[in-house]
Amino acid sequence: MPLRDPKFDFDFIVIGSGFGGSVSALRLVEKGYRVAVMEMGRRWNADNLPRTSWSIHRWFWRPKLGMHGFFNMRVFRHATIFHGCAVGGGSITYAGTLLTPPDSVWEAGSWTGLADWRAEMPQHYQTASRMLGVTENKILGPADRLLKQTGEAVGSSQTFYHTRVGIFQAREGDSPNQTFPDPFFGGAGPPRTTCAACGGCMMGCRYGAKNTLDLNYLYLAEERGAAVFPETKVVDVKPLAGTNDGSAGYEINTVKSTAWVRREPGRFTSRGVVFSASSLGTMELLFCLRENGLLPGISARLGKHVRTNSESIIGARIPGCAEDLSQGIAIGSGIYIDKHTHIEAVRYPNGADLLSLLTTFLTDGRPGPQRIGLWLKNGIGSLLRHPIKTLRLLCPWGWAREATILLCMQAVEGHLEMRWERPWLWPFCKMLVSRGDKVQTYIPKANEFARKFAQIAGGTAMSMLPEILFDIPGTAHCIGGCVIAGSPDRGVVDDHHRVFGYRNMYICDGSVLAANLGVNPSLTITALAERAMSFIPPAAQTDWNDMARAA
Ligand SMILES: Cc1cc2nc3c(=O)[nH]c(=O)nc-3n(C[C@H](O)[C@H](O)[C@H](O)COP(=O)(O)OP(=O)(O)OC[C@H]3O[C@@H](n4cnc5c(N)ncnc54)[C@H](O)[C@@H]3O)c2cc1C
Ligand code: SF4
Repeated sequence: MPLRDPKFDFDFIVIGSGFGGSVSALRLVEKGYRVAVMEMGRRWNADNLPRTSWSIHRWFWRPKLGMHGFFNMRVFRHATIFHGCAVGGGSITYAGTLLTPPDSVWEAGSWTGLADWRAEMPQHYQTASRMLGVTENKILGPADRLLKQTGEAVGSSQTFYHTRVGIFQAREGDSPNQTFPDPFFGGAGPPRTTCAACGGCMMGCRYGAKNTLDLNYLYLAEERGAAVFPETKVVDVKPLAGTNDGSAGYEINTVKSTAWVRREPGRFTSRGVVFSASSLGTMELLFCLRENGLLPGISARLGKHVRTNSESIIGARIPGCAEDLSQGIAIGSGIYIDKHTHIEAVRYPNGADLLSLLTTFLTDGRPGPQRIGLWLKNGIGSLLRHPIKTLRLLCPWGWAREATILLCMQAVEGHLEMRWERPWLWPFCKMLVSRGDKVQTYIPKANEFARKFAQIAGGTAMSMLPEILFDIPGTAHCIGGCVIAGSPDRGVVDDHHRVFGYRNMYICDGSVLAANLGVNPSLTITALAERAMSFIPPAAQTDWNDMARAA
């Protein structure tokens, strides 16, 4: 790496190595900057990824309990949020579905009118799609075929589609699980193996077929000189030399995220900072830094307009199913049952049965005690009428082989607010808490669809237990909280992702998304990060004076 200003350890420090962070690292290093990426999670490969979900310590991220996995789950009053934590961010645990939202998303939310999004974004989606190797899923498993059949039964078969995914698949007629020299970057990338259709994408791909960030953006960034610091959590970011806008650079303090006692504190300096710690991670860090006076100028809109894509997770289990429903890729197909309601067929690999503990009989009804009562009544009734069938439905073993999860997403407007407060349950320190109207956990149309699916498959429809007991929906798509806007009165960054009030400080991750996409967000996060990076001048031409402008 060129030694630009020896006063600083790096030109840019990127916090987080997910979609926004990996794009930023590669594009900045290509422009000639000295780049470091601080990542809280571990590095993963075929040898250390868990074989099943029972290997909890390698799957879950709870470092204080000795769990150093790549999958995190945070429970808030309004939603249980699932997200990734690894070198490669959410890409290690994600399903690989990469969809482009409808153009109408650019006409909703605080980014409207700030750029000619409809004209600008296609080129960035194209670059993002090429880099992430997006292609149509060619591997339809039994769960996808059942989704199609159910679509036919409810009159929506014309909307059935094969997902577009970032997965390296064998050519037609070729056998799966074959290794080839880099097929994506003209030989500059790592060798890759074709998909074995094991359904394990969300447990981490042990074949090297899923196009995770450590095999594309981040791999290339490291090859070109970016330094990645795994298991390194950023705890402080402060402007240097008594300036309050970061014009003299920043000091970044870190600790070892996987250590209990010897936390190996680190101190680094850089001219610029890119926050890419995901929607929750960036909000958490910025709230903390604003509260402790290190970055007091962060907009008061921090934490506003957090969106969860209005999701409901239902499904069906077919005890004794002749086919292995875990075969295929994690999300192989989808269907629109109406203009706003989108359902995807989701699976976990054979043996990954732990999630069965979160599923139960499908239960309708208004959330609250009434729904819990109905759930108990259905459960007891089923146990009395069909004891063996009911016990087989509840038995964890064989769940992944016999079950299909249906992920229902609705593109309807609605958002939460995150605040930095002492929760009444744990008043000893401040933390992120959610506020706002309840997000619906019961989408009647989705339940009807799950019931039909189960009927066609000869099984029983399922709901998620936390949705029934606590009226808390689960979501893997938390976005917003630091949204793009024309001024700090409306959002946290401008349309070039520059943080209002600070110089050479950017946010590139899901937190900047200002509208509900109605589809999985990673491709949009990647495309927006590509766009944001395209505005940063090459290192040789920078005057280190980049600052947000109110529109
Ligand atoms: C099970 C599951 C399946 C999913 N499937 C899909 C899918 O198929 N398609 C899709 O589009 N999306 C999917 N998602 C969502 C997707 O993973 C996220 O939307 C995406 O990863 C968000 O990208 P990001 O750049 O905002 O941050 P992330 O990719 O979440 O990366 C942020 C990184 O920052 C790190 N970090 C946080 N705080 C700090 C700190 N203080 N210091 C250092 N590092 C820090 C985290 O460890 C993390 O690795 C899925 C998510 C889950 C959980
Ligand atoms: S289905 Fe299996 S082999 Fe294919 S990408 Fe997913 S985890 Fe990898």
